[in-house]
Amino acid sequence: MRWGVRMPRNGEINIKFGVYKTVCCGNEIVINVGSTFPDCPKHPKLMTEWKPVLDSKLETPSGISFTRKNNDPAA
Ligand SMILES: [Zn+2]
Repeated sequence: MRWGVRMPRNGEINIKFGVYKTVCCGNEIVINVGSTFPDCPKHPKLMTEWKPVLDSKLETPSGISFTRKNNDPAA
C-alpha cells in the first residue's frame, strides 16, 4: 500500500512529537522530538516502521486518509 508519506523507521530521529505505532503489530508509543524511534518490542530484529497515529484533527494532503473514523466533512 502506498500512502504518499514516508514513515519513520527504527533508528531514525523523530522530528514531530506525537503518538506512533508499529506497522507490524500496532504497538503504540509517544515519542518526543529528537528521540530515536526504537525497535518494535515484539519484533526487535526486523525493520520497524512507525506510523503516526492521527486523531480527529486530520491535516492530510490531497485526500489521503490515514484513519477510518467517521467521515466528517465539516472538520
Ligand atoms: Zn511488531
